[in-house]
Amino acid sequence: MTDMPQTEAEWRQKLDPEQYQVLREAATERAFTGKYWNAKAHGTYRCAGCGEELFSSDTKYDSGSGWPSFYQPIQLGKVAEQTDTSYGMARTEVRCANCGGHLGHVFDDGPNPTGLRYCINSAALDLEEEG
Ligand SMILES: [Zn+2]
Repeated sequence: MTDMPQTEAEWRQKLDPEQYQVLREAATERAFTGKYWNAKAHGTYRCAGCGEELFSSDTKYDSGSGWPSFYQPIQLGKVAEQTDTSYGMARTEVRCANCGGHLGHVFDDGPNPTGLRYCINSAALDLEEEG
C-alpha cells in the first residue's frame, strides 16, 4: 500500500478514534458493542488500517464472546502473533502483519479444524461484502 501512514499523527488522521485506539494503542472494544460481533454477511474482512485481507466470513463463528471470532486467518502470514503479558495474563496478541495494527488475541479454545479462536475487535476490521 502506497498510502500507508508513516507517523502516529497520520494514523490519527486516517482512522476514526475507536479504530485508532484499537489498532494503534491495542485497546479492546467492549464486548457486544462492535459492528461485526454478530455479523452473518458473507465476504472478506480486511484490516481497517491498511486494507489487507485478514479473515473470511467462511471461518467466522459464534463464540458467544461478544467479539468477532474466527478459527483461522484467510492466509498464513497475514497476521502476526506475539506474546502479550499485559494485565498480568499471558496471552497471544494478533496483529496485522502488513501494518502492525493490533487486531485482538488468539486463544486455543476454538472449534475444529484448528481449535483456535481468533478474537478480533470489530473496529480493526472492515467487511467487504460479497455479491
Ligand atoms: Zn493492516
